[in-house]
Amino acid sequence: MSAPAGGRTADRQRLVDLGDEVFAVVNGDGGMGLSNSTVLLDGGRAVVIDTMLLPRMNAPVRKELQRRNATAGLVVNTHQHVDHMGGNGAFPEARAVAPAEAARALGLMAQDTSFLPRLMPAFASELAGLELRLPEPVDPHTLPLPHGAEARVFRNAHSIVDLAVWLPRQRVLVAGDLCFHGVTPLAVHGSISGWIGALDRLIALDPAVVVPGHGEVTGPEALHALRDYLKGLWATARQAADEGATASDAAAVARSFDAGTAGGWREPERSALNVRVALGEITGDPLPLGPPR
Ligand SMILES: [Zn+2]
Repeated sequence: MSAPAGGRTADRQRLVDLGDEVFAVVNGDGGMGLSNSTVLLDGGRAVVIDTMLLPRMNAPVRKELQRRNATAGLVVNTHQHVDHMGGNGAFPEARAVAPAEAARALGLMAQDTSFLPRLMPAFASELAGLELRLPEPVDPHTLPLPHGAEARVFRNAHSIVDLAVWLPRQRVLVAGDLCFHGVTPLAVHGSISGWIGALDRLIALDPAVVVPGHGEVTGPEALHALRDYLKGLWATARQAADEGATASDAAAVARSFDAGTAGGWREPERSALNVRVALGEITGDPLPLGPPR
């Protein structure tokens, strides 16, 4: 599928039926601001995992719920990034929750959202008027998830805390932003080494289907590709640090990083920031946490 002339691909949403009362809605090309939703149905009640950036984006989720005569009972935001929870307001009937530290980070972010239109200029006008519905902080392990689904919580990986949902019977992994597929990941609030460790554990689950936070529904190969990218980036940063590089050399180090096939992923400029995160971890000079400025 080719991008339309002039740059960005339309933010079109597509339903993917994963069987056994599970479906995902893939959001456009998975680029900046375009994250996916997954729904676990339990009779007439639904658990909605991530709600995208804007309420209008999750319209296909609501339409499918209506078609199946189901109501959202629970909205789960996997982590602290607004492109996974900005659509919460479209489900006023449901309780909205997130891992406690993620909910706290979102609460801080919501105090001043003026950076959002600058961060995601493609959606600037809509973000300026967006009313955020913040999730309640919870321990994800206590959530009532259908189909024997298991909450898997990872700290300091893609972000401060990331929730993945594992369906062992279907071997479906709802990875949130622990997996990007065909899109360069972004570790600005996380840890490169921690993310590699999280991917080791997700790969060990041996999923058949992976719903990434961004990009098309895929298989375990996307977890392997992402781990390879992060390991290569970490090795580049490690070697540079051994040769005396500091975090302030991130741009130059990033230019020496060969992303291999990952060089063809969307949003390739993110690698420079990821190198900065890795150098910060290695040299003890981390990026300050908080909303991007
Ligand atoms: Zn994220």
